[in-house]
Amino acid sequence: MSDFQPIIGLEIHVQPKTISKMFCSCSASYFGKPANTQVCPVCLGLPGSLPVPNSLAIKQTIRLGLALGCEIAEHSKFDRKHYFYPDLPKGYQISQYDLPLCQKGEFEGVQIRRVHLEEDTGKLLHQGRDTLIDFNRCGVPLIEIVTEPDLYEAASVKKFLQKLRHLIRWIEVSEADMEKGSMRLEPNISVRTKEGLPPYKVEIKNINSFRFVERAINYEIKRQIEILSKGELPPQETRGWVENKGRTVSQRTKEEAHDYRYFPEPDIPPLEVNQSLIKKLKNELGELPKQAQARLIRECGLSSQEADLVSREKSIFEYFNRLLLEGVSAKEAARIVIHKPNLLESEPKVVASHLKAEKESTVVLGREIAPIVEKVLQQNPKAAADFQGGKSGALQFLIGQVMKETKGKADPQLTSQLIKERLS
Ligand code: ZN
Ligand code: MN
Repeated sequence: MSDFQPIIGLEIHVQPKTISKMFCSCSASYFGKPANTQVCPVCLGLPGSLPVPNSLAIKQTIRLGLALGCEIAEHSKFDRKHYFYPDLPKGYQISQYDLPLCQKGEFEGVQIRRVHLEEDTGKLLHQGRDTLIDFNRCGVPLIEIVTEPDLYEAASVKKFLQKLRHLIRWIEVSEADMEKGSMRLEPNISVRTKEGLPPYKVEIKNINSFRFVERAINYEIKRQIEILSKGELPPQETRGWVENKGRTVSQRTKEEAHDYRYFPEPDIPPLEVNQSLIKKLKNELGELPKQAQARLIRECGLSSQEADLVSREKSIFEYFNRLLLEGVSAKEAARIVIHKPNLLESEPKVVASHLKAEKESTVVLGREIAPIVEKVLQQNPKAAADFQGGKSGALQFLIGQVMKETKGKADPQLTSQLIKERLS
């Protein structure tokens, strides 16, 4: 066995919490909805329709990038990734190629190569000889996290993924619910021999449980070592995990990047992310799990096991903090949230609904503002014309009208940007 060293990298897709899809105003919550009820010309890729990026999805991507210690790109862009498959009506996916929003991070000892934003595809449903397509998921935002091949065994992959999901839920970027498809895992595996780095890579697509990832990786390592032991080379390919057979099966030989004919998305201007937004998002992240755990040990005198249990979920951790504020000692508060989880049953719901109400009132929703901007422009043609004629004061007036319509909930910066885009 020592002649063979498995090398594992990961691609993880998570659906960020947004209300609308990535480039249109259709609802992003597709799970369990009747087929093809949440679609529009943009997400169906009809000719003449134009995508407008979802600012909340962009912010969520940056937040995750920051939590993973990434560098955030001030200049970024979307690209078209072409491939022909019926779940993708445009014939290409809008993704990010050479200028992702986030790069070069590190989490739990694993280097993060990049974190980028893209759109999801529709869902194919095979029924006998027919294939049905549901486009509700088409255009839903997806954050893709790509690690360097820094992992060497299935068990540590599983541990890493569990910590990653914990972080993602903690900062409320995504529900990361694998059963509902809002977190999907794709390990790529190769085995290094005495001769050096492996000249191939096998990617296993769309696995939806940590247990399956572990099993699929172990199966794949064994399969590749068997081939390598015979002096042969496993082909570079994409494989699928078949749980009931306990093995991976070949799906297609792996494409090279040039097969996708990547080029810059011409319908979306390049993304400019200013430092002040990055700073603001960073400040709003608050205490990350690692810092919270360190503080629980250092300041509250908890053991590391207690600290892990107290911080196993954000809502439990917040409940613990509230108990401290009420004067309960740290040890006693820890005992309550660790040993009496039933006490929490009503609590986290209160916390969760409170958080949700707060979110909804302050979160900036680009997709929600766009139609209001449109309405304001139509009701104020003179101000619109004045702005186009160079009177910058007219812009302030128009922003003011949008604020009035949204009862002050619109982000003035975003509103300004939307008006400028619309009138340019
Ligand atoms: Zn749509
Ligand atoms: Mn992807």
